[in-house]
Amino acid sequence: MNVDEFYGQMSNSYGKNHFEVDKPFQMILRHFTGAVPDLVSLGSFAGKELYELADYVDKTARPRLVNWSINGERVDGVWLDPSERIALEKLFKDFGVNKPPYRGGTWFDHYAAIYLISDPGIACILTVTNQTAYALYKYGDEEQNRLVGGMIGEEEQVKYGATWFTELQGGSDLGANLVEAHQEEGVWRIVGDTKYFASDAGLADYAIVTARPKGAPAGAKGLGLFLVPRYDTRGRRNFDVRRLKDKSATASVPTGEVEFHGSEAKPVGDLQSGIYYTMENLMVSRLANSFGALGVARKAFLEAYYYTQKRRAFGRLLVEQPLVQRDLLDMEVYVEGSLALALKAVDQFENSWKETPPYTNAYHYARLLTHITKNTTAEMSAYTTKMAMELLGGLGFLNEYPIERLHREALITPIWEGPSNIQALDMLEVISKKGAHLMLLEDMKSLEAGLIEGREVAALAVKKIEDALALLSSSEDAAAQFYAKDVLNTLGHGVATIMLLEVGRGLGSHRFVSVAQLYARHFLEGKPYPAESLEIARKLFAIDEPAQDT
Ligand SMILES: Cc1cc2nc3c(=O)[nH]c(=O)nc-3n(C[C@H](O)[C@H](O)[C@H](O)COP(=O)(O)OP(=O)(O)OC[C@H]3O[C@@H](n4cnc5c(N)ncnc54)[C@H](O)[C@@H]3O)c2cc1C
Repeated sequence: MNVDEFYGQMSNSYGKNHFEVDKPFQMILRHFTGAVPDLVSLGSFAGKELYELADYVDKTARPRLVNWSINGERVDGVWLDPSERIALEKLFKDFGVNKPPYRGGTWFDHYAAIYLISDPGIACILTVTNQTAYALYKYGDEEQNRLVGGMIGEEEQVKYGATWFTELQGGSDLGANLVEAHQEEGVWRIVGDTKYFASDAGLADYAIVTARPKGAPAGAKGLGLFLVPRYDTRGRRNFDVRRLKDKSATASVPTGEVEFHGSEAKPVGDLQSGIYYTMENLMVSRLANSFGALGVARKAFLEAYYYTQKRRAFGRLLVEQPLVQRDLLDMEVYVEGSLALALKAVDQFENSWKETPPYTNAYHYARLLTHITKNTTAEMSAYTTKMAMELLGGLGFLNEYPIERLHREALITPIWEGPSNIQALDMLEVISKKGAHLMLLEDMKSLEAGLIEGREVAALAVKKIEDALALLSSSEDAAAQFYAKDVLNTLGHGVATIMLLEVGRGLGSHRFVSVAQLYARHFLEGKPYPAESLEIARKLFAIDEPAQDT
């Protein structure tokens, strides 16, 4: 048995081109970008080598912390399986997945790649490196600017970045950060042992780290952002990696605990603006999280979809059973709505990523859409991967096959980059302090006005959004917080509905109007799908069939 045959028996979607089979993705992307980027070879890599690799690393070859060299020196490095290291270099250099807009790429290309890769561990390595490059490009000095090339695949040697904000006493509450920075003979030094969830620890060449300069005020506004290299100016190891976390998923990224004992550092930009730079950085990773969540959901859908075409029960294929058709429809509608929403957020980010404090409304609107998208895609991913597991029956629960891993991977997406409660609180802030909801409403109403088909569905979505927002404006602080997650969910479903309609309008495709109608009915109104949905279900979830735009 050759290798392909072997893994093909573990997976129903292995060996397929995950870009080519995904017609809805191609079409939604085309609506936003005008022309679909050439992702065929990445789709093939993602559906084969990378897919197998993600499973292999998860089950057999997790990164290992190596504290000591053969010469007895403390090194605190991480061993990655050679296949993972090679795959990462390929992604950086051959596929150029981290190429940012300031170097000829686009955010659309980058996030589309994260979607296809759909391994949150690998995506995390790419993302934290991308975030480091982004911070240095935007706010770094000349010397820091020169480091960017290695992190975006422009140089022979790939350089890895990291973003270490979370501490033992709190990740959501960054204002509680205890790690400190002080100057000694003109050199900044970092002290503290609480960077408690540090992805890329042991792998990163450079980390951007939040730390409070001595004498700076308490709370988030007192935090500065520092660049901490792996080796200091005398070539010595610059910090300790205490241990790697033993995680449920995201195996391919090493996540460790880091201690600083007077580590050399250099401020990034203005020390008083650290928290603003950190929030900007989180926008990059929250969008990446959204596409990682979407990609995992899509891979789980593919596993289930192909399985239902092979498995018989009660004398018929599963895919022919009405309840299975309903499940596949449900997953597909949820994925497509979330995709349209997430690409809308990227579109707004494309319009505003260059901004620096003080920001305009365009940036605040991008932030609001990012909170909404991060929450909706993560919920969708947890649901879709669970449903896909269920459709594989008992097989879905076995460690041997990729489907249970996909569900474990999905479950990180509502937690890191700020759990859903934190997205809800951040949404409240950008609404109450910046009025970002006004831009959202204006935009959604103007999209509604431009529609020819499905205007009544868009009107319903706008009304739901308005009603949800009214819940906030008529509430005291505590009540606003109490309702915030319900509001965040409704905004997600409302914007997803309108964006599906807008995709339908832009592409002249009735298909997306049908998906929008189903999305609104089920996710926005919480009602069962109408009876006639059974007729069209098969057309909608058969995502690999060419007639997707009829
Ligand atoms: C695998 C992995 C890798 C990670 N990598 C990194 C990394 O590289 N860099 C980094 O900086 N961090 C990293 N993190 C940390 C991650 O971002 C945090 O775990 C996350 O932001 C939540 O913080 P916490 O764990 O401290 O939870 P807490 O902040 O303690 O939150 C616990 C719960 O309380 C809720 N909560 C907190 N405050 C409120 C409130 N005011 N109102 C309502 N609910 C509230 C939260 O929503 C959450 O559900 C990683 C985490 C994991 C699991």
